[in-house]
Amino acid sequence: MLWSGWGDPAKARELPPQIRELLHDLLGVREPAAPAASFESVRLAPVTLSPARLAALADVVGHEQVLTSRAARIRHTRGKSTPDLLRMRAGDGSAAPDAVLLPGSHQEVAALLRLCAAERIAVVPFGGGTCVVGGLAASRSGFAGVVALDLARLDRLVSVDAESMVVTAEPGLRAPEAERLLERHGLTLGHFPQSYEYATLGGFAAARSSGQASAGYGRFDDMVVGLTVATPSGDLDLGRAPKSAAGPDLRQLLLGSEGVFGVITALRLRVRRVPGRRVYEGWRFASFREGTAALRVLAQEGPLPTVLRLSDETETMIGLARPDDIGGGSSSCLVIAGYEGPAEEPAEGPIEGPVERPTEGLGTGSPATSVEGRRAGAGAVLARMGGVPLGTEPGRAWEHGRFSAPYLRDSLLAAGATVETIETAGFWSALPRLYDAVRLALLGALESPLVMCHISHVYETGASLYFTVVTAQKGDPVAQWERAKEAVSAAIVAAGGTISHHHGVGRDHREAYAAELGPVGVDILRAVKARLDPSGILNPGILIP
Ligand SMILES: Cc1cc2nc3c(=O)[nH]c(=O)nc-3n(C[C@H](O)[C@H](O)[C@H](O)COP(=O)(O)OP(=O)(O)OC[C@H]3O[C@@H](n4cnc5c(N)ncnc54)[C@H](O)[C@@H]3O)c2cc1C
Repeated sequence: MLWSGWGDPAKARELPPQIRELLHDLLGVREPAAPAASFESVRLAPVTLSPARLAALADVVGHEQVLTSRAARIRHTRGKSTPDLLRMRAGDGSAAPDAVLLPGSHQEVAALLRLCAAERIAVVPFGGGTCVVGGLAASRSGFAGVVALDLARLDRLVSVDAESMVVTAEPGLRAPEAERLLERHGLTLGHFPQSYEYATLGGFAAARSSGQASAGYGRFDDMVVGLTVATPSGDLDLGRAPKSAAGPDLRQLLLGSEGVFGVITALRLRVRRVPGRRVYEGWRFASFREGTAALRVLAQEGPLPTVLRLSDETETMIGLARPDDIGGGSSSCLVIAGYEGPAEEPAEGPIEGPVERPTEGLGTGSPATSVEGRRAGAGAVLARMGGVPLGTEPGRAWEHGRFSAPYLRDSLLAAGATVETIETAGFWSALPRLYDAVRLALLGALESPLVMCHISHVYETGASLYFTVVTAQKGDPVAQWERAKEAVSAAIVAAGGTISHHHGVGRDHREAYAAELGPVGVDILRAVKARLDPSGILNPGILIP
C-alpha cells in the first residue's frame, strides 16, 4: 500500500486526456499540486513512550512485535480519506503513533489493553488502515503516548461449520485472503467494497461496511452472527444462535463501535456458496428520478439482482461506473444489474415476478435464486419502469474496473484537483430532498465543482446516496475541503439523512452523529464507554462526542 496514496503502486493510473481537458476547461484547474513529500522528509514527533513502557509492552508481545521505526510509524499514520492523503503528501506525520504493536492472540490483545490502561497509553486498533472518516487519528491529550494495535498477525480462518454455513475468522484477515481461504470450501462472504484489496474483516465489522454486492449478500453487519471482543474491563463473547429474544442484542453495540469499546479478536460470519454463474448487464433510464423509482420497485417487490447500481446524469456522462474507460461516458442514467447464483439453472426454467426478498438467501441452490429467473423477473420490472436494456457489455466494463476508481484519486490530487466522496442514506420518500440538499451544499461551498452521485445499496424502505466531488484545489486544500464537509454534514442532518451509510463516524462525523443520536443517546454511549474502557484509552476522540 502506498503510504501517501491508495493501493498497489504498480496499479497507479494516468489521467485520460478527456479528464485532463475537463479539469482544465470545466473546473478551472490550471496548476499541478506541489509535488508530494518524500518518505524521508515526513515530519514525525519524537517517540514519547519511555523505554520502560516500551519494554513492558515488549514483555507481552515480544520485542520483535513492538515497532518504533520511521517506516512502521508512517505506515500507521491516519487512514485513506482525501484530507488524510493531502496531509501525508504535505509531509505531515503529526498523527503518527509512537509505536506499532503486533499481538498474535486474543490473550495478548487483552493483556496489552490491561497494561495500556494502567499506563495511560492510548490504543488505536488498526486493521487495513483504509478508514476514510479520521478513525485512526486518536487524541494524545492526557496520555503517555499512542500505540497502533495492528491486527495483521490475527489472520486465520479458524473454523468452518458447513452445516450452519458459519465460519470463524480472525479480524486481521484481509478480504482477498479471506475469500481465497473460503473458496477452498466452496464458500464466499460476498463482501466486495471498493477497499476490498486492503481492508480487513475486523475493520468491516468495526465500521459497519457495505459492499458492492449488498443487494444480494447484505451488508457486513448482516453477516456477523457472533463476535469475540477484548476490552480493558474483560472479554465479551456475543452471539450463540442465529436470532435470540434474550434481551437487547449487544452485538449491535459492538458493530460500528470503531474500536472505542474494545478490540474485535474473532468473528463468526454467515457465508454463502460460491456462485457458479455471474451475469452483469447495463440498463439506461432517461433520468435519475425514473431510475430511482425502478430501483425502489425492485427493492420492494423483487426479484433483486445481486449488484444494483444507478448513476445519476453527471456520473453517467463522466463514465464513473466504468472506471477503466473513464471520460467515455454517455447521456441519461446507467444502471448496472448483476446476478450471481448457482451454475445449474432449475429444470422448470425462468421464474417471473416477485420471488426473492432482499434479505433472503442467494446461492442456496433454490430455484428462487436462479440467475436467469431473477434476471428475467428484474428485467421485466426495469423495462416496465422505462429502462432500456444495454446488454452485458456495460456490466463487463463495470466488473473489470470495479476496484480501480480509487487509483485515479492520486493522479487527480497530483494534477491540482481535490476529489472526495460523501455518502448518506434515507427513506425512499426523503431521497429526492436529500439528493438536492447535498448537491446544493457542495455547489455552494466549492467553486464550480463537479458533483456526481449513485445509488448502490437498496432496501425495502430506502437507499444510500454516494456522491463523488471533484474541484480545483484553492489555497490550503484541506481547509477548503473541511469547509465543504461542514456544509454538507449540516445539510444531511437538516434533510433527515444519516451522516453515514457505510463509512462510519470516526472523527469527521462525530458532531453530526451526536446531532443524530440526541443527548440521551450520547449519554448511553458514554456510559458504555465508562464501563468497558474506564481509562478511555481506546481510540480517544473517535466516534463519541
Ligand atoms: C478507496 C476506498 C474505498 C472504500 N470503499 C468502501 C466501500 O465500498 N464500502 C465500505 O463500507 N467502505 C469503504 N471504504 C471505507 C473502509 O474501507 C471501510 O470502513 C472498512 O470497513 C475499513 O476496514 P479496515 O480493515 O481498513 O479498517 P481500519 O481502517 O483499519 O479501521 C477502521 C476503524 O475500525 C477500527 N478497527 C479496525 N479493526 C478493529 C478491530 N479488530 N476491533 C475494533 N476496532 C477495529 C479502527 O480503529 C478504525 O476506527 C473505502 C475506503 C477507501 C480508502
